[in-house]
Order: sequence, then structure tokens, then C-alpha cells
Amino acid sequence: MINIENYDNENIFSKILRNEIPCDKIFENEYCLAFRDINPQAPIHVLAIPKKLVCSYNDFIEKSDDESITHFFKAIREITKLLNLDDGYRLICNTGVNGGQEVPHLHFHILGKKRLKEILP
Ligand code: AMP
Repeated sequence: MINIENYDNENIFSKILRNEIPCDKIFENEYCLAFRDINPQAPIHVLAIPKKLVCSYNDFIEKSDDESITHFFKAIREITKLLNLDDGYRLICNTGVNGGQEVPHLHFHILGKKRLKEILP
């Protein structure tokens, strides 16, 4: 079961941040790294992660200063511009077990270039 209480330095996104494994990077600044999902669910499927080592959305909001939070979310907007997602997109942030989170480093999925179906039951 995923642990989002204590940060696991060996999680795959932590290794990507340390350049220990490669990624298909599309954006990087002081606060955010974004790369293409290895198993895309739409023509555009990018993951935006904070550089700060946080397990989840909860962890990020509770441990970050307001400036870092603002810059991270502004970066996501920059990424949607870079990707030309003018027709819209979906942001998904799975959190914890019930949210279906698999990788214990906060990530926002950015999905676009397809009319996405409703996903809630
Ligand atoms: P989640 O279920 O929200 O934790 O989503 C984790 C996502 O990470 C999935 O969509 C995976 O396809 C993606 N993923 C796992 N490993 C990699 C990787 N090395 N590079 C890019 N995406 C990955």
C-alpha cells in the first residue's frame, strides 16, 4: 500500500529529479519539472511535479510556503500554454490509496488533445 506519510527517496520521480533515470522532459524551472507520462492515456499526457520532495498534495500544501505553491501552479499554466491546450485539458491529482496514487511524489497529470470521458462512477 502506498505510504504518503514519509517521503521515499527511492520513488521513481525522486530518481528522475536526481537525473538517475531519464524522462521526456518538456518543462523545468526552479519549482517544477514536467515530463511525458510513460503510459499515456491521451495524445498529450504530461506529469508536472514539484521539485520539493513531497509525497502528495496534502504534504505539498502543508509543507510549502505560499510563494512555492503559487509558482508551482503557475508553472502548470505555463505548461498548458507550451502544449497548446487551447481546447481544454484535464488536471488530475490522485491522492493516497482511495485516490489511486501509485507514485509517492506529488504529481499532476495534464491530459489533452482528446475529448475525455467522464471518469467518476
Ligand atoms: P498515479 O497513479 O497518479 O500515481 O500516476 C503515476 C503515473 O506515473 C502513471 O500514469 C505512470 O504511467 C507514470 N509513470 C510511472 N513511471 C514513469 C516514468 N518513469 N516516466 C514517466 N511516467 C511514469
